[in-house]
Amino acid sequence: MARLAGKIAVVTGSGGGIGRSVAQLFAAEGAHVYIADIDGAAAEATVLAISAQGQTATAVACDVTRGQDVTALVRTLETRHGKADIVVNNAGINVRAEFRHLTDEEWSRLRDVNLDGVVRIARDTFPLLKASGHGSLINIASIMGHRGLRQLAAYSATKGAVAALTRALSVEYAVFGIRVNTISPGFIETAMTRRILKTPPIRKALLEQTPLRRFGTGEDIARAALFFAGEDSTFVTGSELLVDGGMFAAL
Ligand code: NAP
Repeated sequence: MARLAGKIAVVTGSGGGIGRSVAQLFAAEGAHVYIADIDGAAAEATVLAISAQGQTATAVACDVTRGQDVTALVRTLETRHGKADIVVNNAGINVRAEFRHLTDEEWSRLRDVNLDGVVRIARDTFPLLKASGHGSLINIASIMGHRGLRQLAAYSATKGAVAALTRALSVEYAVFGIRVNTISPGFIETAMTRRILKTPPIRKALLEQTPLRRFGTGEDIARAALFFAGEDSTFVTGSELLVDGGMFAAL
């Protein structure tokens, strides 16, 4: 039996990577998923992948840093469904820079997407999640919110903030029947990490720091998202699930 039958879901940044895997699994489990990505063509490609599985989905060009895009997305959902049962704040970017050389522009862009985008979506989809009666908001942070690696301090700061926001917001939204949880992935092979994970010494060092001795896949994160989205986690809110192959435990 499909675990998300009849649910309306939104996944930001689902034109590729982890977001696409989440959208594909949610669709396979019966949800109608809105594929919201800055790149409309990439969003359409995810819709095609979902069609190939035998389900339907809707592509929406939405840059989470643009208030008007988010407002338009919310209006579309409001008009068509009057609710959203599951919202996944997945859109994110990385900027690798020695912190002392980080430019104001790099920091603004990182914060705009990784933190302000999450704030905007979490705030503006509230009426839709409330209308669901059992909304689930899932924020994708990172293991990097808990540890340090050279050139990733600014990224770590945004992801630590997302986890802190999630915990605090879970208390505020619980009154409205909305659960709010964080997934913190370890190193997952996607476009975001492709270049560094192809650098042999870095790949070797990171694998050595990962007790399960592999990098994650989008599907690993999608399965965690399914847990938070569905009926298996109805008493779980304000929690953070590390999906990192044991990297944090091994610190
Ligand atoms: P990805 O492959 O780069 O996918 C991110 C997606 O988000 C892309 O389709 C990207 O579009 C889109 N996007 C970027 N900026 C956006 C914006 N302003 N509005 C809407 N969509 C936007 O990255 P990923 O690895 O799947 O990462 C997904 C999430 O997991 C991110 O929040 C990331 O920080 C987090 N995460 C990833 C890892 C990892 O190891 N991969 C680990 C921990 C956490 P474009 O391609 O056009 O930019």
